[in-house]
Amino acid sequence: MTEHTRIPLACVIGHPIAHSRSPALHGYWLRRYGIKGHYVPIDIAPLELNELLRILPRLGFVGANVTIPHKEAILNIADIVTDRAALIGAANTLIFRKDGKIHADNTDGSGFIANLRQNAPHWVPAAGPAVVLGAGGAARAVVAALIEVGVPEIRLMNRTRARADALRSDFGAKVHVHEWVQAANLLEDAAMLVNTTSLGMTGKPDLNIPLDRLNPHALVTDLVYTPLKTQLLIEAEARGNPVVDGLGMLLHQAAPGFERWFGIRPDVDEATRKAVLSA
Ligand code: NAP
Repeated sequence: MTEHTRIPLACVIGHPIAHSRSPALHGYWLRRYGIKGHYVPIDIAPLELNELLRILPRLGFVGANVTIPHKEAILNIADIVTDRAALIGAANTLIFRKDGKIHADNTDGSGFIANLRQNAPHWVPAAGPAVVLGAGGAARAVVAALIEVGVPEIRLMNRTRARADALRSDFGAKVHVHEWVQAANLLEDAAMLVNTTSLGMTGKPDLNIPLDRLNPHALVTDLVYTPLKTQLLIEAEARGNPVVDGLGMLLHQAAPGFERWFGIRPDVDEATRKAVLSA
């Protein structure tokens, strides 16, 4: 079989990986667009990452998504790292190039913004400060993206303050770090509230930030998508605030990889959401 006749393969690598919704998503798109290709989950332990990653292209893989715990380590293995992945300090999308080089990018931030543009079309980034809860890997992508689209001020809070301070020193003066307990007081004149922590996820405690002072027009969005409607979103919606759930970010961050590997930019629409939710 020659290079040209190979059926393209892509995968998501993580450890563990059984929980990932990416195979359902890419599988749906492959069927929808009638593409002869496959997308599979591969469990790779950290110690095997380098070795197995080099083997995948030889088996016909054209790229991969990367998830916990490899998103940061992959930057030391990839041959080419995009500026945004380097700034964020993590990659989620790999392209195995024909010259053998591994190209690493981070599409979480663009996925986050695309989700807001699609589901909160009236959101204006320059309208006011954003309150961002959390300072983990996802927060880094969100903060980078918010600054890029013109949000004037990021009010950042994290349980572990040092992590938020590190983000401030990496992303600059638009990031203002506050104590976690101050969150409720900083909502009054904020134009948006973003939860990037894992609080609110099934099996984890709820976020429990009082929303009494939240600006009634502020957009509220949660990166957590299991459950789809977190307690934060339920409370914000009950107050009349516009809300956007985290599933759209997952779908949008996947689209650029699919396009690079399989040659078609997939639609992120209601049918895509349903396909992933019912998987
Ligand atoms: P991470 O790097 O492990 O960061 C976890 C964050 O949650 C940190 O800020 C951590 O604070 C905070 N946290 C965890 N338990 C907490 C608690 N009990 N009280 C207060 N804060 C707590 O994880 P990540 O990659 O950033 O992911 C964070 C969440 O975003 C996860 O739920 C993930 O599924 C979700 N996510 C969604 C998408 C999407 O497409 N929708 C994409 C990426 C991530 P400390 O620093 O103090 O530990």
